[in-house]
Amino acid sequence: MLASFTQKVAAVDNRFTSFHRMEALQVNLGDLCNLSCAHCHHHASPHGVRIMGREVMERIVAFLARHPGLTLDITGGCPEMNPDFRYFVEATAGLAARRIVRSNLAIALEPGMEWLPDFYREQQLVVMASLPCYEADNVAKQRGDGVFSRSIEVLRRLNSQGYGRTLELHLVHNPGNGSVSGSRAVLEKQYRAELQQQFGISFNSLHCMNNTPIGRFRDQLELNGTYRRYIEHLVEKFNPAAAEQIMCRTLVSVGWDGSLYNCDFNLAAALPLQRADGTPVTIDSIDEVTLSGSAIRMAEHCFSCTAGQGSGCGGATVPSGVVTPAATQQDSQSAAACLLQ
Ligand code: SF4
Ligand code: SF4
Repeated sequence: MLASFTQKVAAVDNRFTSFHRMEALQVNLGDLCNLSCAHCHHHASPHGVRIMGREVMERIVAFLARHPGLTLDITGGCPEMNPDFRYFVEATAGLAARRIVRSNLAIALEPGMEWLPDFYREQQLVVMASLPCYEADNVAKQRGDGVFSRSIEVLRRLNSQGYGRTLELHLVHNPGNGSVSGSRAVLEKQYRAELQQQFGISFNSLHCMNNTPIGRFRDQLELNGTYRRYIEHLVEKFNPAAAEQIMCRTLVSVGWDGSLYNCDFNLAAALPLQRADGTPVTIDSIDEVTLSGSAIRMAEHCFSCTAGQGSGCGGATVPSGVVTPAATQQDSQSAAACLLQ
């Protein structure tokens, strides 16, 4: 029988199974999205109905005002589709050391949304943009036909606003081949060369994320009969150096209704932070779960955070030189391209 994720991490260091210190607040504005990607760890789509309202946003703003210096990480779904996205971004100006928006890029070409690149710049947002691969066919397989060309057009617009130069523009890669991400250093070099040569696009860095086996991605694995194989693959690639770096040690996620989670993956997996009596912890009582030593809710999907170079919303968590032999074995196979299943 497999050791649980908690057991694996505790065997590295017992402290790594609990919260360390608050550095970032991730806010999920809801599950509305203009796309319906195969690798989505939520079930985000144009039919999303879990949408954060202003009342919860105001409570988050109040929290940030009391806790200056954090990173604010705004995600979804497609966060820009929340009707109060603009309000929330403007209300949090000056309240966080760094504000990140996670964008699928294509949203900025939807009718009525063309204002987004200007707005990102005016608000000095860091743009973390999904682009699973630098090849159109691979992106089409994960995100749908035409998404690659729309993404490229928006990247051009962002570059013209100074993104990728004076303003931060990071790209996010997800492997398409049912394995952990290849070498970040190699993939970044390939992305940079391809996007620059083909389209004249520049960006600051590439963040490589393993696919987390929940949401629509889990549905796909189960449909293909490969869910168990994928979990075993993640377990095989367990990297002890990544155990200390799991993002839930320094981040808390807020769901659309104000409930708290250790991360956006636990949000998608419906594993909220709860008190011993089962009542949910919300943004109003966040101090209850950000004490050093607070237990993290861990489950099988967590193995995606410690496989290979490690993985979190900031990409690979372990420098290339600190990867175990089991983890590097995959690199030589998958770094060459964004392979497909
Ligand atoms: S992966 Fe991102 S862009 Fe794709 S459906 Fe999910 S939230 Fe939308
Ligand atoms: S999935 Fe979430 S709770 Fe699990 S290890 Fe990763 S960041 Fe932590």
